[in-house]
Amino acid sequence: MLLSNTLKSILQVPCLTLHSGSTEIIMTRALFLDRDGIINVDTGYTYKTQDIVFMEGIFDICRNAQQAGYKLIVVTNQSGIGRGYYTEKDLHTVMAWMQEKLAEEQITLDKYYYCPYHPEGIGQYRRESNDRKPGAGMLLKAKQEFNILMQDSIMLGDKPADMEAAWRAGVGRKLMLPHTGYPTSPYADRILTHLREALKEFPAFA
Ligand SMILES: [Mg+2]
Repeated sequence: MLLSNTLKSILQVPCLTLHSGSTEIIMTRALFLDRDGIINVDTGYTYKTQDIVFMEGIFDICRNAQQAGYKLIVVTNQSGIGRGYYTEKDLHTVMAWMQEKLAEEQITLDKYYYCPYHPEGIGQYRRESNDRKPGAGMLLKAKQEFNILMQDSIMLGDKPADMEAAWRAGVGRKLMLPHTGYPTSPYADRILTHLREALKEFPAFA
């Protein structure tokens, strides 16, 4: 018998409740998204709203993932802050604008994590950080904050550092959309030639 999409979404079980003594822990899964090159076209240190062009297919991917019960979590290296090209305030302005545009598409970002540090940054930003991908710091913070089942989660990124960070954090499925001519990653489970191919990860809604 064919199952309706609604029933399929219920069967996909977006959350898992674990009982540990008297404590109830609600676990969930996440779609981790790199930002530049996945949500928006990577124009290089993009920080002005007028320069943001959304990637084709990203709204459908986010909407479907959300309907399938995935938290939507952005993990983005923002060394442009550390290098002095723009400020944390600029980043928050862009992200607020981006969240508004996503909301118009019935998409809610659960959280964005960013890493402003870089070894060649300036002032307080000049340092190594495990948050900077390929470090797993941002993903592990999200894991703790949202009780994420990493093995049941997905990372969608465009650079080897995204795949390695996800691997270090124990993310079960790692999808890569490399830029033309750029390297792939041995940590990627699947290489995409177009972002829309990621919709296959959410078959009840594709
Ligand atoms: Mg990127």
